[in-house]
Amino acid sequence: MTRLLNIGSINIDYVYQVPHFLRAGETLEAVSRAIFMGGKGLNQSVAAKRSGLEVIHLGVLGADGTFLRDFMQTEGIDVRFLRTDNTLPTGHTVIQVTPDAENAILYFAGTNHAIDRELVKKALQTLSPGDFVLMQNEVNDVAFFLNEAKKLGLVTVFNPAPYSPEVLNYPLDQVDVLIVNETEARGILGADLADDDEILKSLRERFPHAAIFLTLGKRGMKCDLGQGLQPMSFKAFKVKAVDTTGAGDTFVGYAVRALMAYRKTNDIDVFKTEIETAMLAAAMSVTREGAVPSIPKIDELTLDAQVGE
Ligand code: ADP
Repeated sequence: MTRLLNIGSINIDYVYQVPHFLRAGETLEAVSRAIFMGGKGLNQSVAAKRSGLEVIHLGVLGADGTFLRDFMQTEGIDVRFLRTDNTLPTGHTVIQVTPDAENAILYFAGTNHAIDRELVKKALQTLSPGDFVLMQNEVNDVAFFLNEAKKLGLVTVFNPAPYSPEVLNYPLDQVDVLIVNETEARGILGADLADDDEILKSLRERFPHAAIFLTLGKRGMKCDLGQGLQPMSFKAFKVKAVDTTGAGDTFVGYAVRALMAYRKTNDIDVFKTEIETAMLAAAMSVTREGAVPSIPKIDELTLDAQVGE
């Protein structure tokens, strides 16, 4: 079975309900606190695993992150390359949420910026050509990891989220599969194109050899696999949105599954069916609260949701 190595961030999200956002110099008592698992890396590993893939997660936790390791293991994610660094806290956010549901987020990368190059090289060497390597933009050394993965003939999938201008310095020609939302596409193109097809076309010009996925929230998704195939459009499933956190991550995990199936069969109809599954999984995640808890397992997917107009 084709394997997926995700070199990804893992966060602890500390969410505080507050009467108002902190002001300079103020001490304020929070009403309540809740702790959630997060990080785009963790979310995407969970999504890929729940889609039925074999997933190895490479990352670093602090001593405060033991529960995250336990959780990932329980999910069935291979944690062989999950290290603990006792000198740093696990990557985390401190989120203030006001009564109007506005939020303000303070992020500290912590161990997400302590990924060791040698560990990555070792993990990459356990893979075979044609296996997939997934990366987001929340860990250190993305450029190095992309180059190393390509040297070994692995399929590189890059989701440049959250977008930062540093992305433009990465060796983007080493990316085989690019998955972006509108914000990330705009950042990469440096232009504010209004039309979805124009955005996809500009991405194609910028990445002549990559398979490109442009996610468009409730408007769905457009992709261009290249290889002489016409760009494709997929509608989002119509659902009652409760919390869109994690929709993009759910899509990424399931899209990797679709790509693996396509590479195996070389059958575009198989790809289309699998992508519909990814769209359904992402839509279902929107109907539930939170990120990790909202990611559906493949055998939970139901067609109650309707395809959008
Ligand atoms: P991100 O969360 O990275 O910003 P998007 O908002 O583009 O990503 O969402 C990713 C995918 O999730 C979309 O392509 C779509 O399939 C699905 N999705 C997101 N929001 C909705 C929604 N309100 N209804 C149905 N599907 C949605």
